[in-house]
Amino acid sequence: MRILLIEDERDLAEALSAALGKHGIVTDHTMHLADAIELTRQNLYDAILLDRRLPDGEGLSFIPALRRTGKDTPIIVLTARNEPKERIEGLDLGADDYLGKPFLVEELMARLRAVLRRSPELSELKIAVGRMEIDPLHLSVTVGSVPLDLPRRELLVLAALARRKEKTVLRSTLEAAVYNYEEEIQSNALDAHISRLRKRLIDAGAGVAIHNIRGVGYLMKEE
Ligand code: CA
Repeated sequence: MRILLIEDERDLAEALSAALGKHGIVTDHTMHLADAIELTRQNLYDAILLDRRLPDGEGLSFIPALRRTGKDTPIIVLTARNEPKERIEGLDLGADDYLGKPFLVEELMARLRAVLRRSPELSELKIAVGRMEIDPLHLSVTVGSVPLDLPRRELLVLAALARRKEKTVLRSTLEAAVYNYEEEIQSNALDAHISRLRKRLIDAGAGVAIHNIRGVGYLMKEE
């Protein structure tokens, strides 16, 4: 899952990106509203976390601006402006949820899961493929009913392939599922993740095979 965080407190943004990363969420971060719309043009986000007091304006102004581009990406406002009147303002402008600072990461995660459950793309929360069941929102995999421990990036690759099983998934799509836009991606990093993942899936008897479509991407098939 990939989200956009629009937040000007650098320390908070870094801590939050790290905490969300532990839950398997890739975070793109910007401090400015001006950059945010452009980022939503370039990337596909599952959700957007939005601060209100930003250096280049009131965060809420982003909501109608995004909706005008035809995107209905869920937006959760994260802000110290947390009076009832302010919450009403945010929700009425089209925010999907509103959370006052300070907050617990666990509560933000629960609220993210709640807004994502309403999104048609992720409505099928658990992905069944081969003998596996993958829960992308809780970042867990079972084979049969036995939990399979995977490193985070491998799990993200697995979920991206499983969601589009029997279809070729482009390298760029897989990289976007695993890395944020600030991370430098080594050219063979994806292949290394896949080769380790492949071995683990075989060892676990997961009942799937990952095929390399040379120069294009990868394809997951049930066996
Ligand atoms: Ca702020």
